[in-house]
Amino acid sequence: MDEKFDCIVIGGGVAGLSAALTLARNNMKFLLIERGEFAGSKNVSGGVLWGSDLNKLVPNYWEEEDGGWERFINHRRLTFMDEQSTFSLDFKSKHFNEAPYSGVVVLRSKFDNWLSAKVQEAIDASDFAMDSFIATNIKVDEVLMENDKAVGIRTGEEEFHADSVIIAEGVNNLLTRQVGLQDKYVPADHMLTGIKEVIRFDQKVLEDRFQLNGLSGMSNEFVGWATDGVEGGGFLYTNRDTISLGLVLSIKDMREKKRSPHDLLNHFKTHPTIADAIRGGEIVEYSAHVVSSGDSRAMPKELYKDGILIAGEAANLLMNAGKAIQGMDYAMRSGILAAETIVKAKEQNDYSSAVLREYRAVLNDSYVMKDINNFQDAVHLLHTETMQSKVPNLICDFGRQFFTIKNEPTPKSEKMLLGAIKRHSSLWELIQLGFKARKSL
Ligand SMILES: Cc1cc2nc3c(=O)[nH]c(=O)nc-3n(C[C@H](O)[C@H](O)[C@H](O)COP(=O)(O)OP(=O)(O)OC[C@H]3O[C@@H](n4cnc5c(N)ncnc54)[C@H](O)[C@@H]3O)c2cc1C
Repeated sequence: MDEKFDCIVIGGGVAGLSAALTLARNNMKFLLIERGEFAGSKNVSGGVLWGSDLNKLVPNYWEEEDGGWERFINHRRLTFMDEQSTFSLDFKSKHFNEAPYSGVVVLRSKFDNWLSAKVQEAIDASDFAMDSFIATNIKVDEVLMENDKAVGIRTGEEEFHADSVIIAEGVNNLLTRQVGLQDKYVPADHMLTGIKEVIRFDQKVLEDRFQLNGLSGMSNEFVGWATDGVEGGGFLYTNRDTISLGLVLSIKDMREKKRSPHDLLNHFKTHPTIADAIRGGEIVEYSAHVVSSGDSRAMPKELYKDGILIAGEAANLLMNAGKAIQGMDYAMRSGILAAETIVKAKEQNDYSSAVLREYRAVLNDSYVMKDINNFQDAVHLLHTETMQSKVPNLICDFGRQFFTIKNEPTPKSEKMLLGAIKRHSSLWELIQLGFKARKSL
């Protein structure tokens, strides 16, 4: 292929596909390269796609008979866990029943493949129906640079040329490092490992067990005993007839404590609350993937340079401040913004960083960078020992006393709470925590 493209998109995950769909709709000639057999074949996510950007990308997506999503979330739960108990903040609302939903659960092999079909439809409807391509099973080995400007990519012996390259390669961002935008080694404490099992049930059993109605679904995050003293957290999301159950775990902490993701997931599954939730289910999928911790210090030095933009988790755009993991929605928004910047660059026939820096400006102005910056303290707070073990233990301790009825005189709740605080932490530590939480949340 000797022709030159307007843009080459590297990676057919959420960021790359969202960029490609935006390029196709703007009549751009592009090549999307994905190393997996099909888009989504190599991707892992818990995962809830939060927010309503999907509706912007694929209007009224929920009306499709078999859209790429599993269930919409109308029931949210945050659970503190000790060895025997769970104490949850539980919120369910009819308010979340209306489309566009506030979050939909997706299984990536299905969702990415569906989104990729949408990209193909948009290519077919564009002026470049015969000249834009989605190429799978191809790994990009190098971004070709001339005078520090991207001019294309190399895969094996073959080269493809383009005016611009969007790098959407995900968290293991080797090409972002090759073009000099990220340091060669990323500190281990900025990276986590996600591990997940998909467990199948009879659909009626699943719906009864989790009180699901029609396509409604539940998302549940866990802090505390779930990770057996290793920094991280757990999740459970309901799909159509399966659940996604997993953990995200600090790589550094696992190494230091000599624990493996597999052994910790088995530990999580022995908790009485989890054991009850998964009883009778059959494991049908098992996967693991690195995931960014959401620490903004892990972001590349810049997200653009001459002829290049970085989108999605390749730019470490992710946030997890305890309420939810937000990586896919950030990937989607940044992919769209990157593509829109390339469209403008084509209009001006200038793909230099002088034009492409606009991407950084619009991203900074979007909820993605605003939230990443505003909630950094909360991200760090979540990873402290107090939040990881002391708080879950004391909450469960208090809950056990509060809900126990003994046919004996019952102490006042304040006394129970102070007792629990004393056993697991101190009043002073909690005052400090409250102060930090007030500022960071
Ligand atoms: C266990 C787990 C749970 C998670 N839960 C959630 C959740 O609930 N909600 C949420 O929003 N996020 C969640 N995330 C994070 C989310 O999955 C990521 O943030 C998101 O997938 C990032 O999208 P992306 O398109 O940037 O990267 P990816 O989805 O990783 O896509 C990158 C693509 O690039 C391809 N690629 C890489 N290198 C090359 C190359 N050299 N040549 C060609 N192709 C290449 C890969 O094959 C891949 O398809 C979770 C992650 C994990 C691991």
